[in-house]
Amino acid sequence: MTCGMEFSDQLPKTYEFANVEERWRNRWRDEDFYFDRNSKKPHFIIDTPPPYPTGNFHIGNALNWCYIDFFARYKRMRGFNVMFPQGWDCHGLPTEVKVEEINHITKNDVSREEFRRMCRELTIKNIGQMRETLRRMAFSVDWSNEYITMQPEYFKKTQLSFLRMLKSGYIYQSEHPVNFCTRCETAIAFAEVAYDERDTRLNYFDFDSVEIATTRPELLAACVAVAVHPDDTRYQNLKGKTLKVPIFGHLVPVVRDEAVDPAFGSGAVMICTFGDKQDVHWWKQHNLALRKAIDRQGKMTALAQKYEGMTAANCRKAILSDMEEKKILRKQEDLGQRVGTCWRCKTPIEILSERQWFIKIKPDEILDAAHQITWYPEHMLRRMENWVEQMEWDWCISRQRIFATPIPVWFCKKCNERVVPDENDLPVDPTLTNPKQPCPKCGGKEFAGEEDVLDTWMDSSISVLNVTGWDGHSSPEIFPAQIRPQGHDIIRTWAFYTILRSVALTGNRPWDQILINGMVLGEDGFKMSKSRGNIIVPEDILCKYGADSLRQWAAMGAATGSDIMFNWNDVVAASRFQTKMWNIARFVLLQLEKEGIEKNVPVNSLADRWLLTRLSDTVGKVTDAMEQYQFDVALKAIREFAWDILADNYIELVKGRLYTKDASRRSACLVLHTVYDAICRMLAPFTPYFAEECYFYINKTSVHKQPWVTFTYDDPQAYFEGDLLVKIVGEVRKYKHDSGLALNAPLGRVTIYAPHTIEDEGDAARTLNADVFWRTDTAKLDRIVTDIEFNRSVVGPAFRKKGPAFMNAIRALSPQELVNPPKLITLEGTEVLVPDHAFTPKFSYMEGGAKVDVISVGDVIVTIQRTA
Ligand SMILES: [Zn+2]
Ligand SMILES: [Zn+2]
Repeated sequence: MTCGMEFSDQLPKTYEFANVEERWRNRWRDEDFYFDRNSKKPHFIIDTPPPYPTGNFHIGNALNWCYIDFFARYKRMRGFNVMFPQGWDCHGLPTEVKVEEINHITKNDVSREEFRRMCRELTIKNIGQMRETLRRMAFSVDWSNEYITMQPEYFKKTQLSFLRMLKSGYIYQSEHPVNFCTRCETAIAFAEVAYDERDTRLNYFDFDSVEIATTRPELLAACVAVAVHPDDTRYQNLKGKTLKVPIFGHLVPVVRDEAVDPAFGSGAVMICTFGDKQDVHWWKQHNLALRKAIDRQGKMTALAQKYEGMTAANCRKAILSDMEEKKILRKQEDLGQRVGTCWRCKTPIEILSERQWFIKIKPDEILDAAHQITWYPEHMLRRMENWVEQMEWDWCISRQRIFATPIPVWFCKKCNERVVPDENDLPVDPTLTNPKQPCPKCGGKEFAGEEDVLDTWMDSSISVLNVTGWDGHSSPEIFPAQIRPQGHDIIRTWAFYTILRSVALTGNRPWDQILINGMVLGEDGFKMSKSRGNIIVPEDILCKYGADSLRQWAAMGAATGSDIMFNWNDVVAASRFQTKMWNIARFVLLQLEKEGIEKNVPVNSLADRWLLTRLSDTVGKVTDAMEQYQFDVALKAIREFAWDILADNYIELVKGRLYTKDASRRSACLVLHTVYDAICRMLAPFTPYFAEECYFYINKTSVHKQPWVTFTYDDPQAYFEGDLLVKIVGEVRKYKHDSGLALNAPLGRVTIYAPHTIEDEGDAARTLNADVFWRTDTAKLDRIVTDIEFNRSVVGPAFRKKGPAFMNAIRALSPQELVNPPKLITLEGTEVLVPDHAFTPKFSYMEGGAKVDVISVGDVIVTIQRTA
């Protein structure tokens, strides 16, 4: 042992989490958590989420990783060869924005390469900070399987997957309306559209003698048709007509469509390219013209004539005022509206028709794979089904940004032929290099590299292929993975895209199981946000209460899959549990140190056998819960067993026996050791530092190298009788406490009238410091009234000055009358009513001529004859 002075044989009085956690962190070796590719053990591969390297591992991440670590450690103890890789999903806009902020530049001030270099540098620094937090939290990450999506060895796989899906026809390029953020200047996928409620105005205006109501007059230049419901009698005369668009003057057809709501506005709507998804639908349905009035920066195009160059918002104002001047604006109404916005910057999205790259969505094959996966909790599958079922557009995977995986495609400048690199030459940046061969179609040697880059989800949706070792050739040997843990907020993105890509590239589902965690809400019950000031930082909890308390909070906060409200009290309770457990550990260790443990002592005492039945019960409960990823149920069962059953009941019951020198003492020691060892092992996945510290003192070896507890012990009689014994002793101890007696004060004679006698090896007698007699006959008790307690709030108002006289009259009643009081009583010659609840007789019991106190515990009667 190399720890030298670090451990004494005696546990320190208090548990100092800061010292303990740091000491173990320095001793544990990364290698112990490496996945062994040559192992014969069954493997358990986790498709860990790669977080975005913001530099801060937030509390939501912490919850998710706690779940992962709980089952990763549990599975290792169950004999699995576990892979708990750690990835970093680097690409994307937030880092670009941060780099611009830090360096006071915009992305156009430096070359693309220089800008990428700055993004990479910031990302590396942020990853370093987040690794620190992961280590402090004691996550048993397999660092040999770390991956960073912006590194060439990763993004070449992203590019390879692109080429493969291009070849198999999943990926195509097309001009198609897409959601576009004009602030971020990029296309975004449907999954990235957030919805906000906003107030807007509905403007009614004269459109070539037809009244039209619109919320987006700035799109007038992009108007391509007017639509009415075919049954709307108001507009029958418009059939087959064209109308002249006000202000701009171009002619548009009138189309008839069932989807028009005759009750909205005037019942006639203008179709623009594109105001919303419905416009896209109509545009396709009726084969309408395309008029692009808004460009990628959100400015009006030349099509908008005199409004060219204005922002959409300014154009709206200008057009409304021009309408007013032309006296064609009839009225305006306030209207609440649901607006699609960019999930990152909250700018309302535009729908622009652009040449983009898409991935075909085949709902059936995605649903089929989703149904082969076991979902925890089960109902989360519905969210995936709903999302897939409402899919209308394919996935737009091209982005007009810089810090992302380049799309590995060139176009011949002469004939526009599309040229892709050889797979062996990946990764490539087509904006920096040329194809190795001339154009296969025309022999041209000049190429334009694709400047669009890939959606970040294209990187992260192959995380599972990456960790299982996919190289494009076939399905890896260890694919599919066993589990994907992730938040419910990214079911429609990360889970959906991963299933899609796995099926497209391997024909198989990505994982056997998916475990969904909820979101962490602030102490006020709201989503954490800077503006609410309710953000909790994991480091703050780590400093105040340590990693194990934070981990316990994560386990206990809510059922898996539910949102969980942060609560400092839960963290404090977790830390108190550790203090309690520490005291138990100190007590147990003290006992075991006296003579060591004898493994061959027969365990006969009722209390010992009872504890083992309860342990067996707890192990079963905890194991079942772990198998179902119900961490709250598991940890709760461990805590209750340690705190209530072991500490409050068993130890109190056997303390006296432990001071003897009998064989029964050695039996208690053996049982204590068994139970203590089992608790440490069950706690190991939840509180790795604490469990290690407790376990090491007794066994001088690491708890994290031990197998999971499989202890079983079947003894129904001990289970039942032990419960009764514990209950009786508990009640008598409570009696002592309520009577103002010290718990170790001599009590006298305790007689227990039970259905049958119980052989408890004298545990009850020693614990109660009394002579305890078990009897099976019926207690023969005489009841006498020793006192009367008057209820002054009844007597006072009812009798006023005659109160004392009333009380005297009551005192004069016979014991029988006191139990069943008369309705009337004579008071100074007059009969008066005896009010309800005016008094309560106080009884005493006599047993064999001696006064006793009586307690009932279920059917069991206990009499206590106190020592004088
Ligand atoms: Zn945006
Ligand atoms: Zn060519």
